[in-house]
Amino acid sequence: MESRRNMFFSYKKDPAKLNDIQALMTIAKEQGFTIVDRSADANIIVAIGGDGAFLQAVRKSGFRDDCLYVGVTDEVEASLYCDFHIHDRDAMIEAIQTAGVEVRRYPVLDVHLDGHTHFHCLNELSVRSSIIKTFVIDIHIDDLHFETFRGDGIVVSTPTGSTAYNRSLNGAVVDPRIPCMQVSEIASLNNNQFRTLGSPFVLGDSRKLTLSIVQDGNDYPIIGLDNEALSVQSIKNIEVEMSGKIIKTVKLKNNSFWHKVQRTFL
Ligand code: NAP
Repeated sequence: MESRRNMFFSYKKDPAKLNDIQALMTIAKEQGFTIVDRSADANIIVAIGGDGAFLQAVRKSGFRDDCLYVGVTDEVEASLYCDFHIHDRDAMIEAIQTAGVEVRRYPVLDVHLDGHTHFHCLNELSVRSSIIKTFVIDIHIDDLHFETFRGDGIVVSTPTGSTAYNRSLNGAVVDPRIPCMQVSEIASLNNNQFRTLGSPFVLGDSRKLTLSIVQDGNDYPIIGLDNEALSVQSIKNIEVEMSGKIIKTVKLKNNSFWHKVQRTFL
């Protein structure tokens, strides 16, 4: 953090939490940081809230790989993206003063819609039917037509997203040191006409996944980019690859991803 001195705070303007946030800003100033009003001017972005707030801060600041993100939770439960609790100010000061932090690098997804619109995801891309009817997706891995899915939808998650939506779909929890994407089904319909693998599968970082939505009248899916829904008219092809970008976050010593998984789920 030595060379990074411009700090931006991302938080919801909740009057009940403003005192705590002001206290954090005061500590930051006392430790020699400058608080800036725009995330573009910052080289440290502090997200206050839980994992949802962290995802929003990363998205709104444009998935910057030239700055450090710091997750501060204000919830009772542990958060996967947050190493600090808003009331544990001593831990923050100690981390700054003793250089007691390391940097984690989290893989990100690149998503292209119909070859032009481009997005990133830190947790996952989800594609879900917006009506009660099932919809059909041809799934390609690189140039191979792998399967034809019929059901409610597909979730493609990053390693850090593997503990979120993916986990509710019985996907595996993946170490963020493995740059990969996991594909999980939401309620696939399997019969003699439609057959899918039926289990989540993991693709390496040089693979391209293409989801081609069969245009049969139910071709208006809800596209979820982490915790944001994309409003689109009609989509044919969704291409997903691992991005060259990474998100860097502050990591306290002895607080690995697996410590967090253990604290959160076990
Ligand atoms: P939300 O619907 O208000 O909360 C979803 C829950 O997931 C929250 O408890 C959130 O933690 C937690 N979460 C988010 N990212 C996580 C991660 N990487 N590992 C473990 N838990 C995580 O929405 P939100 O808080 O804005 O989070 C958006 C995420 O919700 C999406 O990216 C998706 O993964 C997940 N989601 C899950 C389901 C499901 O499991 N059926 C359905 C839709 C969306 P905090 O309380 O700390 O924010």
